[in-house]
Amino acid sequence: MKHIVIIGNGIAGTTAARHIRKNSDYDITLISAESKHFWSRTALMYIYMGHMKYHHTKPYEDRFWKKNRINLIHDYVEKIDTKQKQVTLASSPPLRYDVLIIATGAKPNKFGWPGQELEGVTGMVSLQDLDRIERYTQGIARGVVVGGGLIGIELSEMLHSRNIPVTFLVREKQFWNNVLPEQEASMISRHIREHHIDLKLETELKEILPDKNGRVRAVVTNTGEEIACQFVGLTAGVHPNTDLVKSTAIETNRGVLVNEFLETNIPDVYAIGDCAERRKAIAGRTAIEQVWYTGRMMGETVAQTICGNKIAYHPGPWFNSAKFFDIEYQTYGNVKPQLGANEDEFYWEHSSGKLAMHFVFDKNEQTFFGINTFGIRLKHECFDQWLKEKVDIGHIISHLREANFDPEFFKNHEKDVIQAFSGQYPEIRVASRQRRKTLGIF
Ligand SMILES: Cc1cc2nc3c(=O)[nH]c(=O)nc-3n(C[C@H](O)[C@H](O)[C@H](O)COP(=O)(O)OP(=O)(O)OC[C@H]3O[C@@H](n4cnc5c(N)ncnc54)[C@H](O)[C@@H]3O)c2cc1C
Repeated sequence: MKHIVIIGNGIAGTTAARHIRKNSDYDITLISAESKHFWSRTALMYIYMGHMKYHHTKPYEDRFWKKNRINLIHDYVEKIDTKQKQVTLASSPPLRYDVLIIATGAKPNKFGWPGQELEGVTGMVSLQDLDRIERYTQGIARGVVVGGGLIGIELSEMLHSRNIPVTFLVREKQFWNNVLPEQEASMISRHIREHHIDLKLETELKEILPDKNGRVRAVVTNTGEEIACQFVGLTAGVHPNTDLVKSTAIETNRGVLVNEFLETNIPDVYAIGDCAERRKAIAGRTAIEQVWYTGRMMGETVAQTICGNKIAYHPGPWFNSAKFFDIEYQTYGNVKPQLGANEDEFYWEHSSGKLAMHFVFDKNEQTFFGINTFGIRLKHECFDQWLKEKVDIGHIISHLREANFDPEFFKNHEKDVIQAFSGQYPEIRVASRQRRKTLGIF
């Protein structure tokens, strides 16, 4: 019987294990140094904020693994020997494999800042990081969060939920301005400040200073300001965890290099999830994709291949979602921070400054390229289909109602969005006269 060894029990490794079990009788071993059982990393903030206990974040009952004959090992893999087809573990006997799946996830970026290893400083990725955050933030007067991305805003919200004053250092001109266009980035920056977060834009960490016990006492920024604090969260992005693979014949770049079948250069060795890097990125997507659903899709895909149904990884049009304090965000397709030469845009923002939609489309053909939506939830399946069918922007605007997840929105705003669009682009046909009448727009 083939033995499949999977290193990493996150969404990618766990999904692979589940789907290999569904499709085969192979022996499956799932190893993780972090926790015995799979848990939802995306819910980390809610544990700290007291909305959930750790055990609520486990998607499967503990008995699930035995019932499904998935052998769990809670241990650290120290070495991979691709010639002997064996992995060496820190405290358990070595394991032989027929097929190896590397699903080792990502690690927080640390850019060699002086003081980055001090007591009171941590990234925010693992359960161990969560323990540290819990310990380091007890009774403190101020926390500093370094790096304005999705994890940084979550950590700011976490500290804020415990009434800990937060200074948030963001290198860009506006929050997440390297991903969001100017309009949305400034809307979210305003929203962050409304929550009394001390948001310092265009500001970078230079150094972390210790007190006499070796604990953090302050940070110094690139503007020369010294900010007293007792906790520093390093959230300046993550990078693929290739630690284990670096000393092997498995090829890496920033991540573990894979082809469209998620195969590495070594036969019977695959890489999936946050640690994997496509040799050739799929059009409209990046070579490294570090989000939950792509990990799940890669797990499903690799399981098919390993079970004899070789298929390529085809995730379809890009989408993602997040929450910035009270504002939900979704993105479908491609909305870049700056418009491309062939692109045009339509941005609508409600006077409350908490609802917005940003559409991007082809300047000449009017083909719809993507949307960012804030505070208004739209249906994934509609946009997935429209992007695949390459419909034009007029079609999208006049069919927004179909994509509405929350009918309340359209009572209030559909008319405004269509009217604003028609005002800006009178030459683009939005809907038939009859349909406009139905919508109450004349
Ligand atoms: C705080 C936070 C919030 C997030 N929120 C969202 C969100 O809202 N939406 C979204 O789409 N994505 C979100 N993400 C990203 C998402 O969680 C990741 O893309 C996803 O969890 C990656 O899954 P993975 O299976 O590739 O790796 P991981 O979940 O990182 O699992 C890898 C596992 O491998 C283990 N491992 C590594 N090396 C070894 C070794 N040598 N021996 C043994 N075990 C090892 C690690 O300890 C870890 O447990 C968030 C990430 C973080 C950190």
